[in-house]
Amino acid sequence: MTSTDVDALEAFATRAIEAYGASKDVAQTVSNSLVSADLVGHSSHGVVRIPYYEAQANDGSLDPTATPTIESAGPFTQVVGGAAFGQITGRYAVEELIETANSHGVGIVGIRDSGHLGRIGEWANRVTEEGLLFMSWVNLQGGAQRIAPPGTADRRLGTNPITFGVPTFDALPFDLLYDGATSQVAHGKIIERDGSGETLPVDWTTTGSGDPVEYAADFEEGIGALLPLGGRETGYKGFDLAVMTELFASIIGDGPVSAKEDQNWQGNGAAFIAIDPEIFTTREELSIRVKALSEYIRSAEPIEDSLEVLLPGEPEYRTSEERRQNGIPIEDAVADGLRNLANELNIEHELPTSLR
Ligand code: NAD
Repeated sequence: MTSTDVDALEAFATRAIEAYGASKDVAQTVSNSLVSADLVGHSSHGVVRIPYYEAQANDGSLDPTATPTIESAGPFTQVVGGAAFGQITGRYAVEELIETANSHGVGIVGIRDSGHLGRIGEWANRVTEEGLLFMSWVNLQGGAQRIAPPGTADRRLGTNPITFGVPTFDALPFDLLYDGATSQVAHGKIIERDGSGETLPVDWTTTGSGDPVEYAADFEEGIGALLPLGGRETGYKGFDLAVMTELFASIIGDGPVSAKEDQNWQGNGAAFIAIDPEIFTTREELSIRVKALSEYIRSAEPIEDSLEVLLPGEPEYRTSEERRQNGIPIEDAVADGLRNLANELNIEHELPTSLR
């Protein structure tokens, strides 16, 4: 594990993305999103993805020069499409969403055929920054199938994340944010361990025998599946949420669902909703309720001294505060992947010093 300076990592990521065909502006925007995921602790959605996006640019499923377009619109709705980087489409979609919610009190944006939208919490945070409520359902449009229905080990659905954001104004130093896959963990957490030699936690995956998949490399070769959120006993809840997410993203984004085994598309469809809370209450009242709720929740006594009550989004807030000071830790396997990519693209000299 190597600690890497935030700005040096972002500069390298920009050069790498430019080297596989994006303009400087696009490369900077994408790398800023990836490094912001590393910064908040979701390295599964950070620079580890750069080699994967390169492979998609090479096989044509991602067009580094594409720009998102509005494919249809109603009074307070839009559907945004185009196989651009998801970081570009996501940003475009939330700016449309914010403008609509500010004018109409509510905005709904569907997304179809986007590149990988990355860490959905980034889009939620952008909306809560504007004092708006956010919720979203994101699917993989039938590609990247990883979740098995309960009682099976057959991959049928993507890791379909659900995200909610609540602005907290002056009640807390961060906005409340729930942002999680409907599988036990995001697939990126397996990708991060690929090549590390570590065994996977037993409650993440299952094989046909009911035993877990041992190594990330086996999972990447197609062995077993991710258990739905809730695991072996109560995974039916996560699975049902994944099915509903598949449909909300598909209906509002007007894109495909997971319906057969060989759907290779690796991007996202989505339904993003923003609501102005001031239609229903005042900012002052919202702050009072958030403060009362969070203080009451935090008054629960931890069972062990090492445990602490945290609120949704608080781990990410704390991690980003710490990493801004001390740099971003990069796993050895991820560092190897970046070195290989730098070598292939002839930009070894652009690697942050700590990764050379
Ligand atoms: P996770 O399990 O790390 O976190 C899920 C949520 O739990 C977060 O909101 C976090 O703030 C909260 N949390 C964590 N620890 C907590 C605690 N102790 N107390 C209270 N709350 C706590 O997330 P994940 O499911 O592994 O997903 C990681 C990322 O992957 C997310 O950003 C998600 O958007 C992204 N993702 C993207 C895609 C895609 O296709 N674009 C697919 C799946 C996941």
